[in-house]
Amino acid sequence: MSANESLFTEAQKHIPGGVNSPVRAFKNVSGNPIFIKKAKGAYLTDADDKEYIDFIASWGPMILGHAHEPVVKAIQEQVLLGTSYGAPTELETKMAVLIKSMVANVDLIRMTSSGTEACMSALRVARGYTGKNKFIKFDGCYHGHADAFLVKGGSGMATLGIQTVAGVSEAVAADTLTAAYNNLEEVKQLAEKYRGEIAAIIVEPIAGNMGCILPVRGFIEGLRKICDEENIVLIFDEVMTGFRLAKGGAQQTLHVNADLVTYGKVIGAGLPVGAFGGKRHIMESVAPLGKVYQAGTLSGNPVAMIAGYTLLSELNSNPKIYDELAAKTTYLKNELETVFAEKNIPVCINQTGSMMSVHFTAGAVNNFEDAVACDNDLFKKYFHHMLIAGIYLPPSPYESWFLNNALSYTDLDKTIAASKNFTA
Ligand SMILES: *Cc1c(COP(=O)(O)O)cnc(C)c1O
Repeated sequence: MSANESLFTEAQKHIPGGVNSPVRAFKNVSGNPIFIKKAKGAYLTDADDKEYIDFIASWGPMILGHAHEPVVKAIQEQVLLGTSYGAPTELETKMAVLIKSMVANVDLIRMTSSGTEACMSALRVARGYTGKNKFIKFDGCYHGHADAFLVKGGSGMATLGIQTVAGVSEAVAADTLTAAYNNLEEVKQLAEKYRGEIAAIIVEPIAGNMGCILPVRGFIEGLRKICDEENIVLIFDEVMTGFRLAKGGAQQTLHVNADLVTYGKVIGAGLPVGAFGGKRHIMESVAPLGKVYQAGTLSGNPVAMIAGYTLLSELNSNPKIYDELAAKTTYLKNELETVFAEKNIPVCINQTGSMMSVHFTAGAVNNFEDAVACDNDLFKKYFHHMLIAGIYLPPSPYESWFLNNALSYTDLDKTIAASKNFTA
């Protein structure tokens, strides 16, 4: 038995499915997960000492590569000063000021320890602020695992084919209205049918949890308009896109501002961090200013803050990073399109900035239904072929690939060459 196999066997005795987050179990692609021993730059090393080129980047946070030296150094220095105080620090204000200088439309921001908490809290704020209960989300979008969002979710829910989650009461699910991504007409109908009852529309402005799916022209602008007309809070879930697509996230690349924005992933540089923020008059609902209670023992944790602050500072002072990442990702996309065309394998590669994904289909992929209709058995085969070749792709067609700037063109060429050797 390999070290990976024996570690997985042992883990399964003690942890549900052997993992602390479902998609890691490789269930959708069959086979056993690899256990990671260490990571540096663009590379992971597993328990059997095999090295991989990493296209997951911890699902986004490691945008400048693993064990990025300035981040490691900052963490080491902070650890010696204590790891948690349960009292405010100057660092939290510095973090808030830095974020506000990078993204539009955030007057006040509150830190959390995960993207789940950020989205859960943003929804609560929208409800508290508007005094309404229902909200609209989109099929295949994922906003963390708070009860209200676990209706027609993407990410691991899509991967495992779970569309109705046990343990979520019907009463809670009844306030969650769903529409197809990129379908403005459905949103209009819901807004009309439930006029005066809808607190928020939450959307991944660029979707990454059903593979990467881009908004069609007018979709996000249309949501903005409906929210303005109906007094609905527009929440951009930028847990994935924030600080990844641009300094100002999807708000910047799409030229549309939300009322509330949630962050996670890149914001913590690999430590557990999330945040929600937005317009002052809405965020003033948050306790202790207002009546929307929200809290966290480790929120604004100094080690997590210094890690995130150090990474964001680098992204802020060197925006060329985003151009480099986009150039690398476009190169990979174009080359892979050529490779699959030569093999007569129909493929749809959606890409924006450093996010992309490979859907095996002849058609376009604009929503969850399209993603489900792809040849996902072929994806499974491709995934394992690449894994053996030392390329670590997301183990699901419903997840985006995240490129990191430690990837070299040599790494990308190896990835392209490995794809050339793939037989369907
Ligand atoms: C990952 C993700 C979340 C959940 O964040 P966690 O830190 O895993 O709780 C929420 N929304 C989006 C868009 C995500 O990609």
